[in-house]
Amino acid sequence: MAAAPALKHWRTTLERVEKFVSPLYFTDCNLRGRLFGASCPVAVLSSFLTPERLPYQEAVQRDFRPAQVGDSFGPTWWTCWFRVELTIPEAWVGQEVHLCWESDGEGLVWRDGEPVQGLTKEGEKTSYVLTDRLGERDPRSLTLYVEVACNGLLGAGKGSMIAAPDPEKMFQLSRAELAVFHRDVHMLLVDLELLLGIAKGLGKDNQRSFQALYTANQMVNVCDPDQPETFPVAQALASRFFGQHGGESQHTIHATGHCHIDTAWLWPFKETVRKCARSWVTALQLMERNPEFIFACSQAQQLEWVKSRYPGLYSRLQEFACRGQFVPVGGTWVEMDGNLPSGEAMVRQFLQGQNFFLQEFGKMCSEFWLPDTFGYSAQLPQIMHGCGIRRFLSQKLSWNLVNSFPHHTFFWEGLDGSRVLVHFPPGDSYGMQGSVEEVLKTVANNRDKGRANHSAFLFGFGDGGGGPTQTMLDRLKRLSNTDGLPRVQLSSPRQLFSALESDSEQLCTWVGELFLELHNGTYTTHAQIKKGNRECERILHDVELLSSLALARSAQFLYPAAQLQHLWRLLLLNQFHDVVTGSCIQMVAEEAMCHYEDIRSHGNTLLSAAAAALCAGEPGPEGLLIVNTLPWKRTEVMALPKPGGAHSLGLTPSPGDSAQHGLCSCSSPNLAAAPAAPAACVRSARAPTDSASRPPPTKTDGSVTLDNGIIRVKLDPTGRLTSLVLVASGREAIAEGAVGNQFVLFDDVPLYWDAWDVMDYHLETRKPVLGQAGTLAVGTEGGLRGSAWFLLQISPNSRLSQEVVLDVGCPYVRFHTEVHWHEAHKFLKVEFPARVRSSQATYEIQFGHLQRPTHYNTSWDWARFEVWAHRWMDLSEHGFGLALLNDCKYGASVRGSILSLSLLRAPKAPDATADTGRHEFTYALMPHKGSFQDAGVIQAAYSLNFPLLALPAPSPAPATSWSAFSVSSPAVLLETVKQAESSPQRRSLVLRLYEAHGSHVDCWLHLSLPVQEAILCDLLERPDPAGHLTLRDSRLKLTFSPFQVLSLLLVLQPPPH
Ligand SMILES: [Zn+2]
Repeated sequence: MAAAPALKHWRTTLERVEKFVSPLYFTDCNLRGRLFGASCPVAVLSSFLTPERLPYQEAVQRDFRPAQVGDSFGPTWWTCWFRVELTIPEAWVGQEVHLCWESDGEGLVWRDGEPVQGLTKEGEKTSYVLTDRLGERDPRSLTLYVEVACNGLLGAGKGSMIAAPDPEKMFQLSRAELAVFHRDVHMLLVDLELLLGIAKGLGKDNQRSFQALYTANQMVNVCDPDQPETFPVAQALASRFFGQHGGESQHTIHATGHCHIDTAWLWPFKETVRKCARSWVTALQLMERNPEFIFACSQAQQLEWVKSRYPGLYSRLQEFACRGQFVPVGGTWVEMDGNLPSGEAMVRQFLQGQNFFLQEFGKMCSEFWLPDTFGYSAQLPQIMHGCGIRRFLSQKLSWNLVNSFPHHTFFWEGLDGSRVLVHFPPGDSYGMQGSVEEVLKTVANNRDKGRANHSAFLFGFGDGGGGPTQTMLDRLKRLSNTDGLPRVQLSSPRQLFSALESDSEQLCTWVGELFLELHNGTYTTHAQIKKGNRECERILHDVELLSSLALARSAQFLYPAAQLQHLWRLLLLNQFHDVVTGSCIQMVAEEAMCHYEDIRSHGNTLLSAAAAALCAGEPGPEGLLIVNTLPWKRTEVMALPKPGGAHSLGLTPSPGDSAQHGLCSCSSPNLAAAPAAPAACVRSARAPTDSASRPPPTKTDGSVTLDNGIIRVKLDPTGRLTSLVLVASGREAIAEGAVGNQFVLFDDVPLYWDAWDVMDYHLETRKPVLGQAGTLAVGTEGGLRGSAWFLLQISPNSRLSQEVVLDVGCPYVRFHTEVHWHEAHKFLKVEFPARVRSSQATYEIQFGHLQRPTHYNTSWDWARFEVWAHRWMDLSEHGFGLALLNDCKYGASVRGSILSLSLLRAPKAPDATADTGRHEFTYALMPHKGSFQDAGVIQAAYSLNFPLLALPAPSPAPATSWSAFSVSSPAVLLETVKQAESSPQRRSLVLRLYEAHGSHVDCWLHLSLPVQEAILCDLLERPDPAGHLTLRDSRLKLTFSPFQVLSLLLVLQPPPH
């Protein structure tokens, strides 16, 4: 029996135990030094290097050359394959034998042609168990392969994690040997470390803390590292301590294994595929050894990659999913950014994701999972609801720089009033290790004490993959029910949320967006990615619409469902939270641009195919098909192609054409009549003279005035806006004595997260960019279009040119901008001081809009010094306002009366080349009377983003124009028309509409398509059993509440013959 403790000194007792388990000190005589017993080198080690990521079958055919421990290999992103031939000494019969492998590159062990375990030093996986207990008759010789990637868990940053990767980095194999592993020593070490954690964590005011310390001290007394027969006595002391249970009110921690794998970030997409294999095969191995271990895995895209690249591993994942140990979560294609994707794109994240999970794992996910995203749109609760999800897990708001978010468990009420149950693991991490410190933090940090008695605890290395370890599991299992600590159970997210739901009466509610007070630079960084995102969202919208119309009108047309799914998945992939945000390395940005290029080129091919089908069989000469893909009448000036590649302007369609309203596919008969010179035939001659743009007079002082009868724009000789008048009312929109279209440059040096963060203090470095008088020149001299242009030197290295354009009939003035940008840590914005006073500005978000303050009263107000918006923002007072529209920007702010659009940043990490080069973008300014809703700001922003299409019609275009859809209320927008994912004979369409004004509305949807049946459905296109709608006179009556999104299934009549 152990002697009674003689020591009464806290510190010496504690440190004595620490030294007994230390991996650094006294390993010659302490317990840690006995973790491994005998060792021997591997029999033969050989390797080869390749720049490619080869499949196993191909790799093992290659020429392996002799290799040895200490060898270095590289460079970055290459792969070194090792063949490891080993023979276990006969003397080790009865022992647990490991292959000990240490390398700074991420490794994957292959055995008998299948991946079996990841080996990653940074992920504390340096040991592969060859046998739990070597039997007398077990084969002792074996050949393994280890595929080592030339990158670490977090890429290969030069000097710091987020620095651009070092292309020349070399990696090393520092250990490869066989060793006997002492499991009993390991378990004692786990216990002693937990006891130390309890002693330290509970502190000197707590009796249980001393009990833990003295238990550990006694264990050291009885335990002789050289005599394993002493271990059971020590183990018994620990068991007695951990077996002393807590009371009924104990908090319960639900520990779920997890491995956050960024789909691309500091490494390319292709490496992520291997990260998934390394991480998940390791998790599977843990599931086999620990039947109670549950692992949550998100992101359908990653599973799809593993399915195609590692089919054997994938079928085992499916097996463990059936057992309930491998739990798909999230419901989305990737863990997308929560701010920038359009509403429709967010719906598609779930549509692609949930359908994948259903098809591959037999059920959809019941919780949305986005632990690492930079803010969460107020529209997400409604989107979740529509996709069969009522629960949401995240934790990123713990990164708030200014305000501490007041909840960990709460109801989140979205823009339309939809509510979901949200849980943020109170330990503020998704990469826990199972330590006592983390367990105690989970309880202490919980902001909903007394309201929620259950918490999530996500354990496993994350970001770069890695995942849980056996040691983490051993810790958590030991802590299942110990007095002084919360109860710990290995649980699924479903169990956690069920427990939270069953006791949710006391929970508070948070209304509106979950704004992350950090990473606000991600709305702007990598402008080309942002532009690709907006443009490709438009292209897919237009392709789906035209293809749907072609499907309805043509018996022969085949809806390109498979191609569209492929293109959508590329777009969704790019919306990953480190890609569309611009916080990725150069290599990823280049891959993302290739994805956009694919969508553009294939999308244009699909548009042409649909146009051809729409023209087929109609009488009339060949020409151009003019298509308006928006559900309201438009009369706009268009640049129409002329032979030889030139363009000329046309007003399309001409005013007064009653047929031109609605979502219409139309071709002007005049156009079609003279295909060689279409522009000449556009009804420009009929442009009403009262609203024509008058020739822009250039005054002697060098200023230019543009006037189209709706607005009058006055530019000073350097291109700044000195006046913007709403002609009918004479109302001036620019603040007195101020100038708009003022470019401003800021120093942009964050504290650490370069591509991510713009800090509040950047506002103190504001420098207006001043142009030179005389640079302003008249562009187009009136007629259908008036324009002026100018050059502006931003800095010695960067310059800008801009064309300011005002069209006939257009309620806004456009600013086409080209920038050659060669800066470091600068931020370019453009400002418009408005003659408007309001404490709130309005910003467009997914399927709606919201208000944010224009002042810095409280910390919650000023923390939003840089916010995100989609296509428009507006500052209105009673009766008048000024809206700022854009075609590819997301960063914005309104402070006081100044509307400011964020244009370009120049961060250097993790991509040193980010945003360097040429940029093109357009923003527009729209003064309006009344509210922005009544003034049509929303429609104007759509028009700017969805130009009329002029598609070459290879066969005769329809002689008369027609409209497929229109909606009777301007408050209701028809956002999407597509083929239903699954429909009999493929003749069902899905329409998605939303209420955009923030009002209760009854409206009529007019349809001119051959519709047989109309049924309300959810966002996953599942019909609502009570949702049959009556079709009367080709109209459907629809009722909306504010910001409600409605989806309809339209069953088309059989095709015409
Ligand atoms: Zn992440």
